[in-house]
Amino acid sequence: MRRKGEPYNRRRYLVDTNPLSKVIHDLESEKKSCNIHKIIKSYVIMLDTKSQVNRFLLLNNDYNICKCCMTEKHKNSNKI
Ligand SMILES: [Zn+2]
Repeated sequence: MRRKGEPYNRRRYLVDTNPLSKVIHDLESEKKSCNIHKIIKSYVIMLDTKSQVNRFLLLNNDYNICKCCMTEKHKNSNKI
């Protein structure tokens, strides 16, 4: 579910930059287990497209995609 207001602004991909998480979620296929509401807002970065996500992952290779909401993409390739 996309969210309005800061820091989400109805954008699609949410990056949790908390050093303890470092996970990217797809809010369009968000699951309960994503616990988006628990992510600290000051750690949130939003992205709009899959290519922005791919680029982010290339530049930050210690990040993971969320296994709950991004499994489809996870299945299709080992990189993302
Ligand atoms: Zn997720």
